[in-house]
Amino acid sequence: MAAGDNLIRCGFCGHEFVEEQGNVGCKNCPMSSGCKMIKCPRCNYENPPEPALVKGIKKLLRR
Ligand SMILES: [Zn+2]
Repeated sequence: MAAGDNLIRCGFCGHEFVEEQGNVGCKNCPMSSGCKMIKCPRCNYENPPEPALVKGIKKLLRR
């Protein structure tokens, strides 16, 4: 796994996947650019995107 990948944990099934994978799953979304939901590749649950603040905190914890 490349450094800098954003791991998303599905809020429904707990499956962890890279943010890019989830975004690919949303290509069928009618809102071509407006939809920011990240779909779980396993169960198709749409996870809300993480706020930048949360990502920053995660980076600090990851050290
Ligand atoms: Zn899921």
